[in-house]
Amino acid sequence: MPFYIVNRNPNPATLTKPAHHEVHDIGQDQFPGLLATLRDCLPLQNNWLHLGFHLNCQSAVEEAMKRPELTGKAANGCYYCANGCHTM
Ligand SMILES: [Zn+2]
Repeated sequence: MPFYIVNRNPNPATLTKPAHHEVHDIGQDQFPGLLATLRDCLPLQNNWLHLGFHLNCQSAVEEAMKRPELTGKAANGCYYCANGCHTM
């Protein structure tokens, strides 16, 4: 089951998208902070909020939206590693 994180820092709003926080899949059965593969799309580790293990990115995005740090913000899957949840 993949472990997910969300970027504390939002992507800035553009003409077509609201500001949003990207959710990333950091790999299967990884302990947070012990990455076997560092994806180029990942934010700096200082900016990670751990979302835990999820069966899919939908569940991880829902979890991200519950985080107080993201209150009132949008969360969305990363184009590269959580593409099934990438809608903005
Ligand atoms: Zn990613």
